[in-house]
Amino acid sequence: MLHLAIIGSGPAGYYTAEAALKRWGEEVHVDIFDLQPVPFGLIRSGVAPDHQSIKGVSKRYDAVAQAPNVRFVGKVAVGRDISIAELQELYDAVVLATGAPSDRTLDIPGSDLGNVFGSAAFVGWYNGHPHFADLAPDFAGAHAVVIGNGNVALDIARILAKVPQEFEGADIVAHALDALKGSGIASVTILGRRGPHQIAMTPKELGELGSLERARPRVDPADLPPEAEDAALDPGMRKSIQHLRAFAVDAPSDKPFTIDFDFFAAPRALVGDGTVRAIEVERTALVDGRAVGTGETYQVPADLVISAIGYRTNPIEGVPYDTAAGRFANEEGRILPGLYCVGWARRGPSGTIGTNRPDGFAIIDRIAEDFPAPGNKQGRAGFEALATARGVDFVTFRDWRKIDEAEVARARDGAPREKFVAFDQMLAAAGKH
Ligand code: NAP
Repeated sequence: MLHLAIIGSGPAGYYTAEAALKRWGEEVHVDIFDLQPVPFGLIRSGVAPDHQSIKGVSKRYDAVAQAPNVRFVGKVAVGRDISIAELQELYDAVVLATGAPSDRTLDIPGSDLGNVFGSAAFVGWYNGHPHFADLAPDFAGAHAVVIGNGNVALDIARILAKVPQEFEGADIVAHALDALKGSGIASVTILGRRGPHQIAMTPKELGELGSLERARPRVDPADLPPEAEDAALDPGMRKSIQHLRAFAVDAPSDKPFTIDFDFFAAPRALVGDGTVRAIEVERTALVDGRAVGTGETYQVPADLVISAIGYRTNPIEGVPYDTAAGRFANEEGRILPGLYCVGWARRGPSGTIGTNRPDGFAIIDRIAEDFPAPGNKQGRAGFEALATARGVDFVTFRDWRKIDEAEVARARDGAPREKFVAFDQMLAAAGKH
């Protein structure tokens, strides 16, 4: 019997479990640990609440979770409740699928001003992640600035621009929906330090901005490269640029909310009096694909600033970490003998949810190469003994089912669920306290 511990129950974790089942069938026991009492990681806490079709992928993880030799072990903090060294004593292989839950920091003067947030915190807030439920962003001002030209920047701009009716069918949490209902934000500027041909946005997500109820995206035609240059782009990028070209057409519109793309604009400082009021930006030019400052600066009004410039994996004591890359130091997912990483914790925050499936299968290939014969570790029996001795009360998939049912039962009309946003609420719903 091979005993496998997967740390993190997001897409990378469940695809790895699925791959383990495919390879070893009943000859493997998989324990999937999570910090939260609820599973699915990024699907629950990262994917936008108005992108329910993407969230539907968790049904596939449900099927994996039903296997008798796969177990969810929620509310266990690896590194606090149990160490990596202890897990390695108990399991043949330990796979870190912990994602990249922390923000890459915006290292410019003024980033500690009020109403400045990283995307992990802001997205976590509207998605009901218990760590960020108390964020309390202030929407009293009129101007928001989102820094970054990736899909997360698009998610945030769209959420800020939507009217309440556009959240029908979404699982945005009540505290966020209520705050947005009273929002005074009337414009969002999306800052990109490079140009339209260097965006990290995908066509479908970009296209959504074109059909919002009260908001219209705008691009300065002067920022667009000559159309002939689009031919060299890959088909996806070409579609994205078509959207940007459409946003640059100055058609009459009665939509009062503007989403302005400001390209070749590098943030240099945040300005304010305790709370942010403006962002100082330097105009850039592309040199060998890099953004180089031109010396020309200007200010963009900003009552709320969210930087969506990428994420970092949280280090774990005793696990080699690549600080520059913001993820675990690894060779094709191998960290140390018996210790592996997968998904964003392995390769950094790139790709779509689906990218993690081949990643999960690849790490199981590595483990199979390293463990040709069954091991003789204790696995879950050993973990249970340790948890009992230490008073660690973990959450099972059956407990999660109760939390799930309670969230669905308390949903507002048309919404799939109303998430609990605190551990004690989740545990109460599971009947654990
Ligand atoms: P991302 O795609 O890596 O984009 C990060 C953006 O931040 C880039 O435009 C980057 O510009 C910019 N940036 C980085 N450092 C900066 C700085 N110091 N100043 C100004 N700009 C800076 O990251 P993401 O948007 O967080 O997305 C993470 C992953 O999740 C991506 O793979 C994304 O596609 C995926 N995702 C997908 C969806 C979806 O499919 N619906 C939704 C959300 C996220 P440079 O290019 O110049 O470095």
